Amino acid sequence: MTNSLDLKTEDNPYWESKWETLPEEELKALQLKRLKETIARAARAPFYQKVFKQNKIDPEKINSLDDLRRIPFTTKEDLREWYPYGFLTVPKEEIVRMHSSSGTTGRPTVVFYTKKDIDTWANLVARCMYMTGVRRKDVFQNMMGYGLFTGGLGFHYGAEKLGCLVIPAGPGNTKRQLFLMREFETTVVHIIPSYALYVAEVCKEEGIDPQKEFKLRIAFIGAEPHSEGIRQRIEAFFGIDAFNSYGLSEVNGPGVAFECPYKNGMHIWEDAYIVEVINPETLESVKEGEEGELVLTTLTREGMPLLRYRTRDLTKFLPGKCPCGRTHRRIDRITGRTDDMLIIKGVNIYPIQIERVLMSLPEVGSNYLIEVHKRPTGDELLIKVEVKSEIFQEDMRYLEGLRKKIAREVKEEILVTPKVELIEPNSLPRSQGKAQRVVIIE
Ligand code: ADP
Ligand code: ZN
Repeated sequence: MTNSLDLKTEDNPYWESKWETLPEEELKALQLKRLKETIARAARAPFYQKVFKQNKIDPEKINSLDDLRRIPFTTKEDLREWYPYGFLTVPKEEIVRMHSSSGTTGRPTVVFYTKKDIDTWANLVARCMYMTGVRRKDVFQNMMGYGLFTGGLGFHYGAEKLGCLVIPAGPGNTKRQLFLMREFETTVVHIIPSYALYVAEVCKEEGIDPQKEFKLRIAFIGAEPHSEGIRQRIEAFFGIDAFNSYGLSEVNGPGVAFECPYKNGMHIWEDAYIVEVINPETLESVKEGEEGELVLTTLTREGMPLLRYRTRDLTKFLPGKCPCGRTHRRIDRITGRTDDMLIIKGVNIYPIQIERVLMSLPEVGSNYLIEVHKRPTGDELLIKVEVKSEIFQEDMRYLEGLRKKIAREVKEEILVTPKVELIEPNSLPRSQGKAQRVVIIE
C-alpha cells in the first residue's frame, strides 16, 4: 500500500484520498491485479494447493474478477480442519503475530500475520478512524479485550499509526474506565455496544453526567450485532457520535467495513477485499440489494490470504453513492450470523429483530435475554427484559400492561407470541466481551 502522508492534513477528510476515492473502473483493475497476486501467493499454502489440485484450477488462468467464482468457498470448517498452519504461505519465521477468533460459535480459529500484514491492517484501521474525524490530537481509550481477540491490538496499532494518544484500557473495571476518561480527557473510545450501555448504567449509579464531565466525542461500536436503537441510546446518553465498526479475525480483524460521517451503512474497503453476498443455501450471488451471507476474498494479506471466505454474517449492499465521496460500496449493518437463526413454530427469527422492537420502547432498559425452551410440543420463546428503574417502581397493573405491550409489539415483528418477563435493571449477567443474547434451555 502506498502512503499519502503528505495529504493527511487536518482538513483533508481522507486518510488515503487516492485509494478511498478511486473511480469504479480503476478500483476493479486494482482488485484484479491484487487478486492475481493473492492467488499466486495462496498457491503456496497447503490448503489451497489441495483445493487447486482437486478442482483442476491453474492459478495462472484466473484472469478476470469473474474467474474468481471458479474457486470454491473457504469455510470456518476448513480453517478448523487445516489448523494450525495449513493456510500459511510463508515459513513460520516470517510470522510475527497470531490472533484468534473469540470462539462465539465453536472452536476458535487462529490467524497469522507477517510484519507487513500488521502494518497493512493498522493502516486500514487508521483509515477508518480518520474517516470519522479522529485526528492526532485525540485521546483514544481502547476498551476492547487485548490479547488473542483482534479488537484490542487491531485498534491499538491503527490509533498509534494515526498518532493518537492511546490508552490501552482493555474491557471491564468500569469505575477505572470512568476515572481514565475524566483524568486524561478521553475523546474517542472503542467499546462493545452492550458494554457501552452498561457503562451508561454505572455513570447513572455514580451520579456522573458524561456530557458535563467528559470530553468524549466519538465511539466505535462493533464486534457484536446491535440495532440502530442501541446506537441512538449510546449517542444520546454520552452526547457523542457512535460509528459502527465491522471486522472478523479471519481476514485481519476490525477495519473491514466502517461507517463514515454520513452513518448510512459501512464502507467496505474494496481495495483490500473482494466482496460477494450469497444465498447461504443455494450459494449463488443474491441480487444487488438483497440480504445474504457476506463472502470475502483478501487482497492485501500475505501470510494467510483467504479466497471466498464465508463469514456467516448476514448483510446486504446498499444502493447509491455516498455523499462523502468514497467509492467503496456500503453494506448494511450486520443483522446476525447464519447460525443465529432460531426456528420457533416454523418461523425463522433473528435475535436482532427482537432487539429492534425492545430498543424502540423507552420503558425498556439496557439489557435483555432471549430464552428458547425446548418442549416436546414445540419450542417456546421467553424474553427477559430489563426495564428502567423508574418503571420498575410502578404498580403491578402498569407493569402487566407493559409486559403485554412488549409481547404484542414483538409478535408484530416476528409473528410468534413470546412470553415476556420484566426484570430489574442490571439483573441479567453482563459480559465484558460479546453479549450472550440467546440461551437454549433443553
Ligand atoms: P467470533 O466469530 O468467534 O465471534 P471474532 O472475534 O473474529 O470471532 O468476531 C468476528 C465476528 O463478530 C463477525 O464475524 C461478526 O459476526 C461479529 N461482528 C463484528 N463486528 C460486528 C458489527 N459491527 N456488527 C455485527 N456483528 C459484528
Ligand atoms: Zn461515506
